[in-house]
Amino acid sequence: MKTSLFLKSAAVLLTALAFGVFLFARVDAYAPAPAYDLLITNARIVDGSGNPWFRADVAIKDGRIARIGRLGPETAAKTIDARGQILAPGFIDVHTHVESIYNLPAAENFVRMGVTTLVTGNCGTSTTNVAEFLGRMKEKPIAVNLATLIAHGSVRRKVMGLGDRAPTPEELRQMESLVEQGMKDGAVGLSTGLIYVPGTYAKTDEIVSLARVAARYGGLYATHMRNEGDKVADAIRESISIGEQAGLPVEISHFKISNKKLWGQSPMTLGLVRDARSRGLVVTVDQYAYTASSTSLESRLPAWLRAGGLEEAKKRLADKATRERAIDDTKEALKRSGFKDYSFAVVASYDPDKSFNGKSIAEITKEVKKKSDVTSQIEQMLEMYEAGGAGMIYHGMGEEDVRRIMQEPFTMIASDSGVREVDESVPHPRGYGNNARVLGRYVRELKLISLEDAIRKMTSLPAQTFGFRDRGLIREGFAADLVIFDENTIIDQATFDKPHQFPLGISYVLVNGQVILANNQMTEARPGVALLGPGSQKGERISRAGF
Ligand SMILES: [Zn+2]
Repeated sequence: MKTSLFLKSAAVLLTALAFGVFLFARVDAYAPAPAYDLLITNARIVDGSGNPWFRADVAIKDGRIARIGRLGPETAAKTIDARGQILAPGFIDVHTHVESIYNLPAAENFVRMGVTTLVTGNCGTSTTNVAEFLGRMKEKPIAVNLATLIAHGSVRRKVMGLGDRAPTPEELRQMESLVEQGMKDGAVGLSTGLIYVPGTYAKTDEIVSLARVAARYGGLYATHMRNEGDKVADAIRESISIGEQAGLPVEISHFKISNKKLWGQSPMTLGLVRDARSRGLVVTVDQYAYTASSTSLESRLPAWLRAGGLEEAKKRLADKATRERAIDDTKEALKRSGFKDYSFAVVASYDPDKSFNGKSIAEITKEVKKKSDVTSQIEQMLEMYEAGGAGMIYHGMGEEDVRRIMQEPFTMIASDSGVREVDESVPHPRGYGNNARVLGRYVRELKLISLEDAIRKMTSLPAQTFGFRDRGLIREGFAADLVIFDENTIIDQATFDKPHQFPLGISYVLVNGQVILANNQMTEARPGVALLGPGSQKGERISRAGF
């Protein structure tokens, strides 16, 4: 009896001691600092997978999503109450032209539309020194994450200039070695721009050779195709065949039909991609949510005229017969495109005379030459080209095709924009409004796609395609790239007439756990990192399944 009492007392004492130690340990572990850096509460979460929204708190620690669940505010140093709003992964814009990002490191036009990662080097133009380009981020931090492609056009220009000819075997070897170095330095793939000088002079086999190099390092092939108008089907076939021969995924950039005669043919063009996919080839597309495109004035002029660059072209145009041939060929191209004149072609930026900005070639010709015939309009275009060229907006697509392409499961949303500064030029509004336009107009107003699907097209699909394996989803362990917005008010404000306007309804944007937009205000944080392709041996490794 006595022994038993003693044992019982000892047991109670030991339990109390153990509990005390436990309590002490708890206090010791949690008292000095909350477990998480930041907690986002009360949001409805659209996690990027395409699954229906759910409700949870999201805790962030050291730039990553540490915990998703029901978590008290005491667990974090700071809390963002996102009541009534949507929390989604930050948008990944896979089609941009931000080679000048270090001049505008806040990348405000992208951040304001919820974009947290940019892929640049598209359409055949990139740095040819990927290590230097991405490395600059160390001295000049930027707000968003950045990845780049290594571009065929820039590589070709460096090795062979701007000429209209095939490479010699030695030149091809040099181009391959530049692509190889780019991939080793962290490029995510190879891009082409096959309407531009000098990319347009490359035959398919040249591109296949370079794509093979990108394939060896796990890259993809992103292409601004040879044609988006009357020969768009051939161009899609060429893109797919390059991917098939070189053994790498194909991303068709800014998928569209820009020939009026072919409006309504998107079931056919999408069908070509679907057929390729059903044969087991990885082919995806991206799109911006507008019926107008934007590129150079010269891209409407014959490729033979542009060979060697502007100075060579000027010499050709000084010859009367050659000038007439250029006018005739341009006129033929216009006829094939289904447009009667150049009233669909609007100047975005023309440095020699800024009063042209925002006006169509038809309007300008009327103003300058008092003429309205097509020949005079083309003459006007040639004069502007000779004076240094212009950035243009072409109102060339049908809304029906834009919508059908958007509904396709393998289509992602991308802006095709650069970093923008509010100034006198009148750029395409996509650089200010693209993502918000999809969420406001196509999701909420037109109910064309669901909110969850739209977010998937801006997050996990781009991440999967470009191999950003720890981004694009709200998952524990993933990078805390996040956006908070109100699905009832989000809308683009930028128009073709007044493009320099930020969208409404996006309140917070986080990159790698740091707040870069808070209550609609840009912060000073510059937490962007370089996202390196799988060919790189250093830094953040990404990988792609499939090949
Ligand atoms: Zn392009």
